[in-house]
Amino acid sequence: MNRLQKLQLPAPITRFAPTPSGFLHIGNVYSFLITWLLARKNNGQILLRIDDLDQERVRPEYVENIFRTLEWLGLDWDLGPFSVEQFEKEYSQLRRMEVYEAALQKLEEAGAVFGCDCSRKLVKKLIEEHNYEGICQHKDLDLHAHDISWRLKTDGMTEVKMKLYKTGLSVEALPYSQSHFVVRRRDGIPAYHMASVVDDVHFGVNTIVRGEDLFESSVAQLYLAEKLGLSAFSQAEFFHHPLILDRGVKLSKSQRSSAVLDEFSQDKPRLLRKLGGWLALPPEACGSLEEMLSHFSFERVERTISN
Ligand SMILES: [Zn+2]
Repeated sequence: MNRLQKLQLPAPITRFAPTPSGFLHIGNVYSFLITWLLARKNNGQILLRIDDLDQERVRPEYVENIFRTLEWLGLDWDLGPFSVEQFEKEYSQLRRMEVYEAALQKLEEAGAVFGCDCSRKLVKKLIEEHNYEGICQHKDLDLHAHDISWRLKTDGMTEVKMKLYKTGLSVEALPYSQSHFVVRRRDGIPAYHMASVVDDVHFGVNTIVRGEDLFESSVAQLYLAEKLGLSAFSQAEFFHHPLILDRGVKLSKSQRSSAVLDEFSQDKPRLLRKLGGWLALPPEACGSLEEMLSHFSFERVERTISN
């Protein structure tokens, strides 16, 4: 590629999007490292977006741990909050409720949602049985009544186009598991897909790096973006990286994986070697983030994936 072509490509704007419902574990850090390497390698920018809408699960020490862990590791970012105080004052998702509400209203006005009073357990069971057709769709429940969630009508359009990072366009069908997915919870809070799409557009994110466990979420979010007419999101590039298995078990906060800061605070070099190993980097290239950056290439991650 010559210099002119390179200049014409939009610089990536990507994000770290932790949820402060647990301490950051090594799986989170691995995902952020890939995000950081892709952004820094391409003169991109990184937004720190802390998803705190689910206030029941958020704890102040988890928010604080996000800043401390990223700073300790040296994974720097360019946009969003740089301190807990700034986060609470300016960047908490609670400060963007109006933006989410406007999007929800748009769906309501378009007749794209229906009210649902089914238990989550029932819908989950029916989806597992491949027998969920949006039971409440024809009940015409009052969307603004107490204890009613909003579900998206997902009949009709079944496919979305997904731009895969450096790979090209892929056509994806909405997975059955995402049939009539919730966009507004019964407690009135915008659901994860809704807040995530609206936020990415709000902050100009054009490159989304996340674990492959969120692939189906990506398809649902593209579907939602299309319903909302948010073409900026439809144009974003996605990279779903493989998940880390720790002794055969996927690492996640819900499985109470240990806090990376507790486990490695005395031995950062060991953490870097471990992360670098997962990225197929030679041990001698894992002394620092800068070394990793100079040896990193997207093709290398792709090779790791196919291994
Ligand atoms: Zn229902």
